[in-house]
Amino acid sequence: MTLPRRPKGFMFDLDGTLILSNRKLGSYQVIPGAVEVLTELERRGVPYLALTNGSAYPAAKQGPRLREVGLPIVDGHLFTPNSVAGKLFKERGYQNVLVLGTPGVVEALTGHGIRCSLPGDEDAKSADAVYSAWFPECSMADIHAAAGRVLDGAPFYTASDVPFFATSEGPAFGYSCAINGAIHRVTGKEPQVTGKPSQLAMDFVAAKLGLLPSEIAVIGDDPKVEIEMAVAGGAIGIGVTSGTTSAEQWAAQPAERRPDLVIESIAELLEGGWLG
Ligand SMILES: [Mg+2]
Repeated sequence: MTLPRRPKGFMFDLDGTLILSNRKLGSYQVIPGAVEVLTELERRGVPYLALTNGSAYPAAKQGPRLREVGLPIVDGHLFTPNSVAGKLFKERGYQNVLVLGTPGVVEALTGHGIRCSLPGDEDAKSADAVYSAWFPECSMADIHAAAGRVLDGAPFYTASDVPFFATSEGPAFGYSCAINGAIHRVTGKEPQVTGKPSQLAMDFVAAKLGLLPSEIAVIGDDPKVEIEMAVAGGAIGIGVTSGTTSAEQWAAQPAERRPDLVIESIAELLEGGWLG
């Protein structure tokens, strides 16, 4: 396996690609090679960013925690589905977005200039869009409020519709996916995803890097997340085996989720001379 062309910029997944998080301890472990690769890209002036599907924290909260464990990434290179949603909601002119998410989700959207309401708020009844994200405490009343707005015609968005993501203790549960399932069952409406593997996310990455998707290498541990986005968007897909997917599982992927290259960890990007 080899790359079809030399990438001009890089998008890295976070969990399973640059780090493994320990949910119980609330800590991170940097994957070998991640520090060297980011340092080298920075030194060479190659554009790169990290886009996680985790929506729990804004970059200003997560950035310091990642740097604390040694990952040399500045807040300005770190993005979440909330970053994509904030930009999109502004472009689409929503005045009031009903959020099913933690205070960190609301903080991130508010930081993008989006007015948010929460289930139970008086103005939640007039929200002109609904957004579901990281929300472990979601209650039936929350789902009821969101489903009501969606049934009334408010567009339905979500940070992520992925059931599981990689942690150091194995797969962790994707809360927004479960919430989306409940709202869909009631309303018949599927959410539009702002995180990976959506083309909204791919377009966001290309705009941030100032490159065409075809010039970008999308690197991740999940075929249904990063590689599906890369293939559909015409980017270069690189799969790693440091997260949820083994070499055997990568080899068994259908064409729409097949990476151009599979590597053990991102350390091989340096060894392979792929950094541009
Ligand atoms: Mg991942």
